[in-house]
Formats: sequence, C-alpha cells, structure tokens
Amino acid sequence: MVYNFAAGPSVLPKEVLLKAQDELLDYAGSGMSVMELTHRGSEFSSILSKAEATLRELMSIPDHYKVLFLQGGASTQFTMIPLNLAVGKKAYYIESGSFGKKAYTEAVKLSKVIDFEPISLGSTEKTKFDRLVKAVGKKENPHDECAYEINEIDPDAAYVHITLNNTIEGTAIYDLPDAHGVPLVGDMSSDILAVDYDVSKFALIYAGAQKNIGPAGVTVVIIREDFLPKKEILSSMLDYRVLSENDSLYNTPPTFGIYMAGLVFDWVKAQGGVKALEAKNRKKAALLYDFIDQSEFYQSPVKNKAERSICNVPFTTGDQSFDQAFIAFADEKGFKNIKGHRSVGGMRASIYNAFPYEGVLELVELMKTFEKEHT
Ligand code: PMP
Repeated sequence: MVYNFAAGPSVLPKEVLLKAQDELLDYAGSGMSVMELTHRGSEFSSILSKAEATLRELMSIPDHYKVLFLQGGASTQFTMIPLNLAVGKKAYYIESGSFGKKAYTEAVKLSKVIDFEPISLGSTEKTKFDRLVKAVGKKENPHDECAYEINEIDPDAAYVHITLNNTIEGTAIYDLPDAHGVPLVGDMSSDILAVDYDVSKFALIYAGAQKNIGPAGVTVVIIREDFLPKKEILSSMLDYRVLSENDSLYNTPPTFGIYMAGLVFDWVKAQGGVKALEAKNRKKAALLYDFIDQSEFYQSPVKNKAERSICNVPFTTGDQSFDQAFIAFADEKGFKNIKGHRSVGGMRASIYNAFPYEGVLELVELMKTFEKEHT
C-alpha cells in the first residue's frame, strides 16, 4: 500500500483511474481510445461539453462566465492575465506565497514592454511566507510589509491578484480580501474543488489541473464575460477572447487531460460535491494539525490557525537531520513524496480531495512511532 502525499501531480481517485483503464482502448463503443479521437468529432465534443457542464454545476459558475480548458500551466496565466486585462492600467498583487510572488515578478517583467503598472500590496517573504498579507483600515505600522491599506487601492485598477492556497507554504485564504471594489483575480491551483469559494466574487479564476482536477497538462480558466478583451490584438493563443469564442478549440486541446478532468468532476459530484469534500478535507487536516499542535516533537510553521491550508500541511521537527530521517523512514513504509518543497525544507503532506482519511490516520501513527524512536 502506498500513500502519495505529492503536491502535484498528485493522487487521483482510484475509481477515476479504473474507469479510464476500462475505457482506454475503446471509448463508448467508438473502437478508439480517447487519445485517438479527433478533437473536432462528436465523441470529444460531448466529452468537452459534459466536463464543462459538470464543472459549472459543481462550482455554481454563473452563466455570464466562460470556462476555458487551456494549456501552459497556471504559470502561463501569470503573463496572460496582465496581457489581456491590464493594458494601460494598474494591477495589484498580494504576495503571500512563492506563487503569488512569481505572478507579480512575471507581471513586472511584462510591464517593461507593455504599458501597465503592477503594484505589490505587500509580501510576507521576510518571514518565509508563513502568514498571509492582511488588509487593514490603516497601517498600524508604516513599515509593515504584511499589511495594506484598503483605502490606498485605486478603484480604477484592473484587478487585485490573490493566491487562494499557498501550496508550498501551507497557508490559505478562506475569507476573501476587501479589494476596494477592484475585481479579484484568483489563482486557485491548489484548492479548486477542495474549498467551496463563491465564483461570483471573482472576475477571473485559474488553476493548473494537477492537484484536484486531473493529470498535468490542462489549465482551467473561469472568466467573467465582461472581462474578455474587447479587441483581437493579441497572439491568438494568448487571447482569452479568441480562446473563448472557439470554446477552447482554437487549436488542439489536451484531449485526454480534459477527458480525465471530466471523470474527476463526475467523481466530485458522486462524493456529494465541493461542500461535502471541503468538510472531509477539513476533517483530514484537523486530524493532522491537532496532532502536530499537541506534540512537542513536530511543529507547524503556520502559527495562525485560521490561515492554515486544508490541502497542504507543512510540518517539521525543527531539526534538519530528523526531518531527513523522517522522510526516509516514511518513504520506506510507503508514505511517498512527503518531503517539503526544496525552498522551505521539512515535510509537507498534500491531502487533496482524492487523499483518503485513513491515509492521514496512518500518517499520524507513523509520526508517533518516529517520535518515540527519536526522543
Ligand atoms: N500557482 C500555484 C498555487 C501552484 O501551486 C502552482 C504549481 N504548484 C502554480 C501556480 C504553477 O502551476 P503550473 O506548474 O501548472 O504552471
């Protein structure tokens, strides 16, 4: 038995893998694999429209939002978002994690060649992104880089970019920030379908598939129609308007990835939907955090409990050699990929939707055994 704690690509529901296996050589009596189907044919067309319809249902996506299945990973969105939405405007970024920082850094690069002004509202990098940047009515401390003043936000700005779940550092936003009426753009890569967010609060949401949606290679973009660029001026593959007018079929889409995503969406629905999965995820995460908090051996780098991610749980012994020994011990017992991201070290248990409760129970037992052997 193997438990896969990888942060992405990560564990997929077994039922989904079995279904894909069953249909691998002959999809719905077509005599062909999904991988062999033309993307312009009726079989793939129904795979695509069903995947979209199920995602719309699961996330209660309003009709005036477009759903796109793209390529290039969430990282390509770091550039596409300002390119499509921010020309001639300001755009704000909240840097509460490595990926939020990357989004801002890419925006700054782009602003050297395109007329727009990316502005960071704050960064918690100094404390290794162990907390979220906060909004305050007035900065209590003018040197506090971790807080921004809501009233300082220009209401004419294009958007405020946030990362909902910081995959590496294990923090997450559950209460959306006050953005002074400026549209929110959200990177939901690591908690889409795992946390029940209100889509209507965002102008754009994007997510790489490889955590809660399916295999790597698909990027989901959900965009409010009035946010689509008005003129076709961009390279077509980077233009939300073109991609949306062609219903994600401007070029050859990642067909097998979209098929797998559709199977995962069906699975999410069969589990009772996003709310039900969020409740399960909260239970799994609480089990692990409660154990860590009562232990004198393990610790969580995220001290503010309200900001803790329910998808990625980083922890450490506080001693690098113990951490290394734990990772090796866990690996040998079948607890795979529990090593923390190379930028922060320690351990990280990624326990997305498809990760079973029993796996967390067994991890806690493993942690107890290791603790006994090393104290
Ligand atoms: N944003 C977040 C929150 C992520 O976790 C990741 C990937 N781990 C990315 C962006 C980058 O995604 P991709 O590798 O699909 O470009």
